[in-house]
Amino acid sequence: MSTSLYPELWEIINTQQQFIALLVYQLSSIYANSKAPRPTDIADLDYQKMTVDELPKVVEMEKLDYKELLQEHLHQTGKPLKPVQRRASSPTVSSAIHCPRCQAPADYLYLNNGKSDNDQYLCKVCANLFNYKNRYTKEVIFQCPHCEKNLVKIKDRKGFDIYKCLNKACPYYKKRLKSLSKKELKQFKKNKSLFKMHYIYRNFDLTLSDLEAVPDFETKVRLNKIHSSPYVLGLILTYHVNYGLSAEKTAALMFDVHQLKISGQTIRNYARTVAHWVQPLTDYYPYELSDQFCGDETYIRVQGKWHYIYFFFDAEKKIILSHRYNRHRDTETAIKAIHDVIRRFKQVPDALQLVVDGNPIYKLAQAFYAQNGIDFEVIQVIGLTNKDKVSQEYRPLKQIIERLNRTFKGNYKPLGGFHSGAGPLAHVTLFTTYFNFLRPHAKLEKNVPVLLPELNECPDMPQKWVKLLHMSENFIKKRQAS
Ligand SMILES: [Zn+2]
Ligand SMILES: [Zn+2]
Repeated sequence: MSTSLYPELWEIINTQQQFIALLVYQLSSIYANSKAPRPTDIADLDYQKMTVDELPKVVEMEKLDYKELLQEHLHQTGKPLKPVQRRASSPTVSSAIHCPRCQAPADYLYLNNGKSDNDQYLCKVCANLFNYKNRYTKEVIFQCPHCEKNLVKIKDRKGFDIYKCLNKACPYYKKRLKSLSKKELKQFKKNKSLFKMHYIYRNFDLTLSDLEAVPDFETKVRLNKIHSSPYVLGLILTYHVNYGLSAEKTAALMFDVHQLKISGQTIRNYARTVAHWVQPLTDYYPYELSDQFCGDETYIRVQGKWHYIYFFFDAEKKIILSHRYNRHRDTETAIKAIHDVIRRFKQVPDALQLVVDGNPIYKLAQAFYAQNGIDFEVIQVIGLTNKDKVSQEYRPLKQIIERLNRTFKGNYKPLGGFHSGAGPLAHVTLFTTYFNFLRPHAKLEKNVPVLLPELNECPDMPQKWVKLLHMSENFIKKRQAS
């Protein structure tokens, strides 16, 4: 064979390799999203590791003054402390950076690891080691409440950092070690990561005031963008939301039954606009609540991938209080979903109970609120059978929210998945509005969960939707005026 063919063959092989890589990637994505996510497997969740420890001691770092320290140095050694000598080739320290402990200027700061992208600094004056990005968190030190040793930051997780007491002489650690059975001790020696032995503190990025910021309802989306008459809009919402017909089916029905030509895309646009308008009323209506709430996640497909919806629900009054939507199941979303419940109370009731599944994110969210002085009980109903007393007692509550999830799924399934992220968000908002204000509930003697007298005057569902839109508009105006 002529060697002149080699480059050509080489190119063919290369192209084929790229194709294979692409196909493998596609296949793995198809595989990951072909099946509904499995309900959290209890075996995967290490409950033993999920215990939430008491709060650490927070010690403010002693503030120093670099000018005084320089004076002291001169006094003690007879020589002034010189700024850091830098080679011409070494990276410079930005003059904007000061030592957070003693305020020494950049001239006195070593770039500790010599790299400016991972910016760790060492102060020559006070020997403080700090990271520029986290320089303020360095102003406080977390100490173990059991042994008072400084905690060490061991991990950044999405939403929080983990601090650990690494002291082997810590009473917490010693007590845990003693409590292990012989078998457990053997396991522990083999694989240390199986057990939570050390005191741990999770420091959340999120603050309560981030959550408490009341959204601004200044609306960019104008209702008058809707060209159909209010009654036609009400009809569309009835078919699309109450009966869960897809936008295309709703469009077909509007034509076949009412001789009105409206495209599926127009209906999707209407749904988005209306969701935007009813959301303030739905989310901020002063609901009368009980003190029993349950939460659950359900999953939906968006652009071929699984996404999660978090519901929190008043188990007694049958009112949906939270309908968060996220790509992942994470602690931050759980914190926000719980906030949707507790923000309704001026004073969080003592007996407040949240019944949820076994997902550890709710325990972490509870820890977040405990750190902020808000206490409530989280009751985890685990698995499908009553293996423990708690599960037995609270299963009826769990079933209530599972029923809500089924209702939502029944309502959403005919829509056949969503093509964009705005679709499910709009749909879950409309579903919540429908569920709270318009849908008669069997358990409430066929009454709707929230009775709005104004809606009673409306003869049919389309007019109820129109009325609800007006009420929401007034609700927004009133809030903006106050
Ligand atoms: Zn310093
Ligand atoms: Zn300790």
